[in-house]
Amino acid sequence: MHEPQSITVNDDVRMIPAWSIVAACLAFVLVEYYFWLILPAQHHHPPAALGLRIYFNLSWGILAALYFLMMGYVSKDAPRRGMSTRFWLLICFVMPGGIGAVLYFLLRMPEVSLCPACGTHVQSEFHFCPQCNYQLTASCGNCFRTVRATDQYCTRCGHELASDQTPARLRVLDR
Ligand SMILES: [Zn+2]
Ligand SMILES: [Zn+2]
Repeated sequence: MHEPQSITVNDDVRMIPAWSIVAACLAFVLVEYYFWLILPAQHHHPPAALGLRIYFNLSWGILAALYFLMMGYVSKDAPRRGMSTRFWLLICFVMPGGIGAVLYFLLRMPEVSLCPACGTHVQSEFHFCPQCNYQLTASCGNCFRTVRATDQYCTRCGHELASDQTPARLRVLDR
């Protein structure tokens, strides 16, 4: 569907859906509107220095915008990790001051993808599919740690990788 390169380049941008960008812009405008026009009309004490007001008003606006961008990101990121989107959006929405977002990043699961052979959900650190033994990433045939496909020898144990070029699923069939 997409080329691998365009996924890595645009990955972070595409992770934020359009609705959350619109919501973030709206939130920013509303917060600025409130702080510049509504709030000064309600309070009759002399206003603070202009520089300070600009600083605080912009900070609140940016915070409000970030809040919605964060929710957008979570709504896209949670399904990739097999986590409940509704639950985590609620946590991010309810917890004040972005604590929900911090919790999300602390507790989020590894990314989940589909096995190309059988379609089982597999986590990014899996070397083999748990259902069909398909080799998902290049790994050393001796110590089974991840290796780069171009490496000649395992960086951990020195095993010659050329001797196990055949993926494990095919080696089983050879016997
Ligand atoms: Zn599989
Ligand atoms: Zn090794």
